[in-house]
Amino acid sequence: MAAVEKLGEPSISEIESMAYTDPLTGLGNRYRLRDKVRTLAAERADDPAPFTVGIVNLDGFKPINDLFGIAAGDEILCQVAHRLKACMPTGATVTRHSGDEFAFVLPLLFERTGAERVGAMFKEVLSAPYDLGDRHVRLSASFGFAIFPFAGEDFDDLMKSAETALYRSKRRGTGKVTVYSSEIAQEMRRATQIEQALRNAIISDNIEVYFQPIVSLSDDRTVGFEALARWNDPDLGFVSPAVFVPIAEERGFIDALTEALLRRAAQMAATWPRELFLSFNLSSAQLTDRRTSQIVRSIISKAGLEPERLELEITETAVMADAEMAQQIVTDLREAGIRIALDDFGTGQSSLGRLRDFTFDKVKIDRAFVCRIADDEASEHIIRAIVTMCQGLNLEVVAEGIEDFSEALKLKALGCGMGQGYFYGRPMDCDATQKYLDEKYLSSAAE
Ligand code: C2E
Ligand code: MG
Ligand code: MG
Repeated sequence: MAAVEKLGEPSISEIESMAYTDPLTGLGNRYRLRDKVRTLAAERADDPAPFTVGIVNLDGFKPINDLFGIAAGDEILCQVAHRLKACMPTGATVTRHSGDEFAFVLPLLFERTGAERVGAMFKEVLSAPYDLGDRHVRLSASFGFAIFPFAGEDFDDLMKSAETALYRSKRRGTGKVTVYSSEIAQEMRRATQIEQALRNAIISDNIEVYFQPIVSLSDDRTVGFEALARWNDPDLGFVSPAVFVPIAEERGFIDALTEALLRRAAQMAATWPRELFLSFNLSSAQLTDRRTSQIVRSIISKAGLEPERLELEITETAVMADAEMAQQIVTDLREAGIRIALDDFGTGQSSLGRLRDFTFDKVKIDRAFVCRIADDEASEHIIRAIVTMCQGLNLEVVAEGIEDFSEALKLKALGCGMGQGYFYGRPMDCDATQKYLDEKYLSSAAE
């Protein structure tokens, strides 16, 4: 018995090495990196020579895992580990921390351009196809770097800065390299300031909803309104929803914000003539939350707005994050009678495939195409193609951002059914919306 135990028991040094090793790839783990960084930091305590830590995260690894299976995912992670190890500069250490996240310490790298250069080299190495036996897979990777001691004097602070830089890379798209800097630190502080004020504004119900008319292009009739969030903070001044919505998403309270906004918007829309619909922007985080459909239905039901009068705008990028869950949520909402519009069409990813796989009711052509329609033939061709495709797929089309009469005319001629933009009306507060409606309905009654 004792002999068996002796055979099976790892030695102290084996236990130590296991505690510092990632079993899948054989690389070191977080503890290994922590020790390396602590040793380096201690060595350089009196000597100001900087060094760099970095984190790399694969882009779109989860869908690959889902599509090809865990074994294929593991195989890719091992190949990534192998490649990273092979291209580490002298003295550098690479470790794996979790899932598809790897980290490294680069003792001889001490400034931003150097880090960017190394990041670009790693990125290139990781972008070559991965061999899975019967198929090849391509992946990109995002990077975040932090330089000691500016970005942090101990391991935890350095890693936090590298994570912030990585996070920024991810937000800018795929395959990006970011080195933590004082501007990024400043931006984070600003985001925290906005977060705090926004949380308070939500609690005290100080975020307003404005409404922008959506018209039928053939007869200029108003058919509905898009709800747009507006926030004027006493200290921060006007903050655009394009700024505060992503902060609420990133910091995990977008559901509270959306609920407050939808409640307000639905209460107002319930008072409009019944033929008018309300279009409401759903944030991308809500397409990964299975409670969304139930929450939306409950809010509009309390507000007295029929589901048939609600349209939810979602973006392609949001759909991409977790396509299966998004599909489920969209199906639930549509079964309840709520329509779905694809917002900012033409600017996201994989538009055409999404249109085939997903069931939408409407497409909103992004302003980027509409604003160039007058003098750019390519934009005109793109819009013509989108309109024809939507006719074939039985989808309604709205052109966003129409600013003048000539754009409206051109879109009408191209067969676009609906339009929205400053030419037809800017976003208005509740009172102005009511006045706008009173005028429209009074004048149409007088005709
Ligand atoms: P979006 O959903 O694409 O909304 C259209 C944006 O274009 C709005 O900007 C609107 O004011 C602006 N716009 C409309 N017509 C014109 C025009 O003719 N010319 C120009 N230059 N701009 C025009 P806004 O209100 O600043 O909103 C920006 C983005 O913030 C929205 O883009 C939407 O993605 C997001 N957002 C706004 N309100 C909400 C909300 O309640 N919830 C969520 N999740 N997102 C919201
Ligand atoms: Mg929208
Ligand atoms: Mg839009």
